[in-house]
Amino acid sequence: MSSIRSERQRLLRRVSGLARQALFGTLAESYRTCGQPGCRCHQGKKHGPHLYVSFRGEDGKTKGYYVPKALAERMGAGAAAWQELLSVLRELAERNRELLWASRGTNRARPPARRKRDGSSRVPTAKRL
Ligand SMILES: [Zn+2]
Repeated sequence: MSSIRSERQRLLRRVSGLARQALFGTLAESYRTCGQPGCRCHQGKKHGPHLYVSFRGEDGKTKGYYVPKALAERMGAGAAAWQELLSVLRELAERNRELLWASRGTNRARPPARRKRDGSSRVPTAKRL
């Protein structure tokens, strides 16, 4: 149990570090055409690559913005930190569950879930609390 706690502390520190540099969105390259008549971009040689970040806004719509070249590397690191943050949080949630489960003995004991012969247990229809 104490190993779960120390692992949890480690993950919490990791969350804190990642959260400091996390940036939301996916870094991608785009090519575009300009408004200049006769420019090579209209013959298939588009301008680019331009770096941009796309992300899902709170309204569910995809949004984006261009990233200055000088910030590309740090932007990429920030986006990677966000992704890692998600997996670390997931791991943390699992440690939280283990701790909660381990504390069961200190509360009223619940009857064990009834198991079917194949070892699976029936999960009742979920009801949000
Ligand atoms: Zn052009």
